[in-house]
Formats: sequence, structure tokens, C-alpha cells
Amino acid sequence: MNILLSPSEIIEHLYCPRFTYFELYLIIPEHEEKRFKVLMGREVHKDKAQINKDYLRKKIGVTGKETEVYLSSEKLHLKGIVDEVLTLNDGSMAPLDYKFAEYKETQYKTHKTQSLAYGMLISENYGKPASKGFVVYTRSRNKLIEIEFKQKDIDDFQKIIEEMLLIIQKGYYPKKTSSKAKCEDCAYRNICV
Ligand code: SF4
Repeated sequence: MNILLSPSEIIEHLYCPRFTYFELYLIIPEHEEKRFKVLMGREVHKDKAQINKDYLRKKIGVTGKETEVYLSSEKLHLKGIVDEVLTLNDGSMAPLDYKFAEYKETQYKTHKTQSLAYGMLISENYGKPASKGFVVYTRSRNKLIEIEFKQKDIDDFQKIIEEMLLIIQKGYYPKKTSSKAKCEDCAYRNICV
């Protein structure tokens, strides 16, 4: 079975690995979450119009860009739509993502994971190095964050993908999240034992 995982599915897995079991192995949708994602998507598009993108690209040293690019890789088991695929003046490439959000350190790890997934997809599809990514926080005066992808980040990321594949392909039942607060709000709490 050819499994392609999206960054949002990976982020849900990091939130609680049992989401992968219920959503992607047992195929029980988590409706509230999906609705939220749709709403967020619309807001992001509205907000992007307010950004001076040329200024941002100049700051980064961009020599080429493609927008809203769908990329996938069977080898990496990944898929996703990248807001902007950038070519930089040193010949390398990088993803750029817009977040309709304030910059918060607590969310940095999540956004880093997403950016890394896009960076790996870019490198695989374009055959060029992608050793960093960029995120723009539209609610923090378009704060631009540069994220460096280290080998350890890539190794950790690949372990996460392997764990997800084990769940989806073999039905491995992962441990619960250690956070009881997450369980209180969870749509799966009645079937999660
Ligand atoms: S109830 Fe808790 S452990 Fe179970 S899926 Fe939800 S968050 Fe995860």
C-alpha cells in the first residue's frame, strides 16, 4: 500500500499517536478538527493579501519562486501543498509558509516539523539541497523565522514516519498521550482505552 502522509497528519500524530491509529488505521474521522482546519485555511488566504511579499523575498535572497505547489514522494511517504517553493541566491531551495498566527515558542516545534517535511519534499522533487525553511507569522507583523534543518531533525522525523507506518500498515496500537488535558477534549475519548 502506497501511503503518503501530510504534515497535518504528522502534527496530529505528535499531539497524540493514537490519532494516527483512529484516523488513519481504523478510518474514524475526527470531524471537529477538520472543520477547524478548513476555517484556518480560509483565514490564511485572506490575510496573505496584506503581506509585502517582495520585501520578504528580497530579505531572504530569493531568485525564484513557485506558489501553492503540490509535492509528493513515495520514497519519503510524504505529500503536501507548499505555500511557496523558493530558490535562493546560493542555488539551494527552501519552503516558505504563512501562518495566520502570532509567533509563539510553544508552536515552534510544530511549525518546524511542517517546514522540515516540505524541505524534504522539495529536495526530493527538485534534486537540490534544502537545508532551511521560512515561516511568516502574519499576526506578529509578518515576523519572519528561519528554521535550520539539522541531520538530527531529519533522523527524528524519519523515526516518526516509521512509527506512523507501523500503525497504519500493521495496526500497531500506540501508547496514550501522557497529557490528561488532551484526553478531556478529545473526540476519541469514549473509544480510547
Ligand atoms: S483520548 Fe487521549 S490518548 Fe486517546 S486519542 Fe484522545 S488524546 Fe489520545
